[in-house]
Amino acid sequence: MREESGKYDGLRRPDDVKTVTVGGLHIGGEHPVSVQSMTNTDTSDIEATLAQIEDLVGAGCELVRLAVPDKEAAEALEKIVSSVEVPLMADIHFNHSLALKAIEAGIDGLRINPGNIGGRDRVREVVRACAESGVPIRIGVNSGSLEEDLAESFAGPTPEALLASAERHIAYLEELDFTDIIVSIKSTDVRDTIRANRLFARKYPYPLHVGITEAGAGSRGEIKSAAGLGAMLAQGLGDTIRVSLTGSPLQEVKTAYHILRSLGLRKKGPEIISCPTCGRTEIDIEAIAAEVGESLEGCQGEFTVAIMGCAVNGPGEASHADVGLAGGRECGLIFREGEVVKRAAEEELISALLQEIKKMECDQL
Ligand code: SF4
Repeated sequence: MREESGKYDGLRRPDDVKTVTVGGLHIGGEHPVSVQSMTNTDTSDIEATLAQIEDLVGAGCELVRLAVPDKEAAEALEKIVSSVEVPLMADIHFNHSLALKAIEAGIDGLRINPGNIGGRDRVREVVRACAESGVPIRIGVNSGSLEEDLAESFAGPTPEALLASAERHIAYLEELDFTDIIVSIKSTDVRDTIRANRLFARKYPYPLHVGITEAGAGSRGEIKSAAGLGAMLAQGLGDTIRVSLTGSPLQEVKTAYHILRSLGLRKKGPEIISCPTCGRTEIDIEAIAAEVGESLEGCQGEFTVAIMGCAVNGPGEASHADVGLAGGRECGLIFREGEVVKRAAEEELISALLQEIKKMECDQL
């Protein structure tokens, strides 16, 4: 199943998209949109990198990318690869010998742009090693590193220029009969990213890794990513996503799941519905929503919780959710699976709500 819920209404049908497998992770075709991130430790610091990979996996990350900028990082890969189960992708620029080392170390995927690794012979060597080891290649076109000749002829990193760059890299691989390819085309401009990915999807069957590059820090970055990814995913563009935020990669994974859950594409983790509060609110909804959200941080269960302020929309939303709260004057009703199970005073509402949530498939409480 491509999606976990909801109707799929995309620009390209899932069966138009090739499935590429990185480690055990299937990307494309009917498979659910997967979540990936990138470590920001020094890859040659094996202990720190393994600790971060473990945290990422704990948050639900399904593919972890590591920067391999030098020999030390490449040498660390063997130990890292053999210590984890999650599929790993090495991110390598310009240096074909690092790519060969990564394949030797047992890496599951390579992010490399074939046009940038020093000529056809070197591309051939890397592609042969990838084909022999079953290692797919992700081509990553980025507005910040567009080839100069394309930037000149298209007058900047336009969507058409980004597509032309992707085409150039794909041609290197297809000429060698290598089609185990994933492509990403990213710009810091949301609309350009969307357009470039639309152009690509009309032309190629390769799965798309989508994201908004260098989206920024905190809520700015999250909102920019949600705007861009939401627009693309709703059109069926995107088989694996990375949210690029300045800061902790763990936040990238959490944000990615929020985006996918909002679109009904993944259900991992509880959905918390809470009302915006208004002049009718007579209990501290903000504090209740914050505490429940915090208690469920990291929970992978699939259920909905509604936290509502009053009798107008409260009972309706609370009874549609798996667990709900409808507030009244300094008190509230607790619902489970559509039925009122308790009436509690305001100071007892949080514990009463958490007690009911505990009865769901919650692995945090
Ligand atoms: Fe206001 Fe009630 Fe709606 Fe909350 S649920 S915003 S308190 S009307």
